[in-house]
Amino acid sequence: MSNKSPNVAPFIIAIDGPAASGKGTIARALAAHYDYAYLDTGALYRGTAYYVLAAQGAPDNVADALAGVAQLLNNLEALDTLADAIRTQEIGAAAAMVAPLPEVRAAILDVQRDFARTPPHQKVGAILDGRDIGTVVCPDADAKLFITASAKVRAQRRFTELENRSPTLPPASGITFAAVLAEVNARDLQDKTRKTAPLRQSPDAYLLDSSDLSIEGAICAARVFIAETLKKH
Ligand code: C5P
Repeated sequence: MSNKSPNVAPFIIAIDGPAASGKGTIARALAAHYDYAYLDTGALYRGTAYYVLAAQGAPDNVADALAGVAQLLNNLEALDTLADAIRTQEIGAAAAMVAPLPEVRAAILDVQRDFARTPPHQKVGAILDGRDIGTVVCPDADAKLFITASAKVRAQRRFTELENRSPTLPPASGITFAAVLAEVNARDLQDKTRKTAPLRQSPDAYLLDSSDLSIEGAICAARVFIAETLKKH
């Protein structure tokens, strides 16, 4: 299917799941394998939060959050250069505060749908990962994956990631596993219980629990599922 001509509707893969479930790594691996375009939608919420905090705004204030979205949308190409700056716990927590605001989600919706319908660089497929891709952003996606892992496993992955990050980036030290686990549980609760576009598995999504899988094993399971879906497409 990856040889479809560009005027055929792109093959859309929607990937959702909680924080640190490995969905980003799996999405990137699938995008590289199929040569599809990839959009990390969490980066849009993180980017919004980054601009809100940079302007000394409050992430849960609608006007401040919308000013942040406006800056994000005017500087979308700058998001790549912010890749490290938006991966901090502070920005993650602020992103989870702007994310429940319906006004913010509505403002970001078109960017995501445009990406899926018209992937950049004339790619013949698009992969989007986030919390509401299969349920709200691309409910008609060709393939949907819900990737999860136990909170303990996800906290361990995030803890290792934080320990290995550049010492010039906060938090450089003093972070404990217990604090990361508490943060993962708090983020899960926030994302699952918010009123607008909560994190939930779409009924037609394939559930991939990566708790007992290596990252290679999880990528392999995702590839088997996508290959089956492509055959039926
Ligand atoms: O995936 P990531 O941890 O980068 O996302 C940061 C936050 O952005 C999430 O905790 C969630 O609150 C929000 N988000 C969202 N919808 C998406 C992607 C991310 O609400 N599609």
